[in-house]
Amino acid sequence: MSKYLIDRTTKPKYRVRKDDFSDGLNIMEFFCDTIQGEGINIGQPSVFLRLQGCTLDCVWCDTEWRLGSRFAFEQIFELMEKSRFSVIEKFAKGHHLILTGGSPLKQQHSLMDFIDAFDRRYNFRPTIEIDNECVLDPDDEFFQYVDVWTNSPKLSSSGMKRQVRYKPKVLETMSHIHDRIVCYKFVVSCVEDWEEIQMDFIDPGYVKTCDIILMPLASTLAELEKNRPFVIDLALQHGVRYSTREQLVLGLP
Ligand code: SF4
Repeated sequence: MSKYLIDRTTKPKYRVRKDDFSDGLNIMEFFCDTIQGEGINIGQPSVFLRLQGCTLDCVWCDTEWRLGSRFAFEQIFELMEKSRFSVIEKFAKGHHLILTGGSPLKQQHSLMDFIDAFDRRYNFRPTIEIDNECVLDPDDEFFQYVDVWTNSPKLSSSGMKRQVRYKPKVLETMSHIHDRIVCYKFVVSCVEDWEEIQMDFIDPGYVKTCDIILMPLASTLAELEKNRPFVIDLALQHGVRYSTREQLVLGLP
């Protein structure tokens, strides 16, 4: 499982301008033949496009989002076409394209151009899920590009200052999306985290409990096994969904 089209050793083949949205993406890694390991679409066959850069710097972050290079759309398409992994066919069969990071919305204009270019070239669009840290406001136009919004607002346990990580305006915007799947995945490190979820997200009316997913803080299988019992208890107590991190169980990236 998990075959890489772009990894840390992949070098950009074409020169692309940093200030031009329409011809390149800053990518950390790009891999296929894997499953979504967490959240609402757990188990879904997927292709992950992990974008470089993040708006936050959480103390427990397990993603090396500073790494990566700028790749021209042309090179990304060539990699998909020339690889022996049949990525285009996989998208056509239903594998999701997961746009993750870091903060994918930092590159939302380039992503729109990339998806349009994909559509022109192959005459279809893959189903697109986005992992949103819920700090940046999506452009109005971007909504039509995304089928599943997985928002992961960060709590005080992230170590980030409240004014940096808690963005009521973004939550307000997300609460008005009704024609797409929208869920809120909270990384939980202790039982007290629930009070913050209740006070900052549920009580002001930004998030409904039916859209909440609690996921244990874990970057190793041992941490997952240690933290999941209390997170499952919290989920049962409050009538919300629990998610494992199956990638840790299966040793996926
Ligand atoms: S938002 Fe996610 S990727 Fe960014 S620093 Fe926090 S945990 Fe890491």
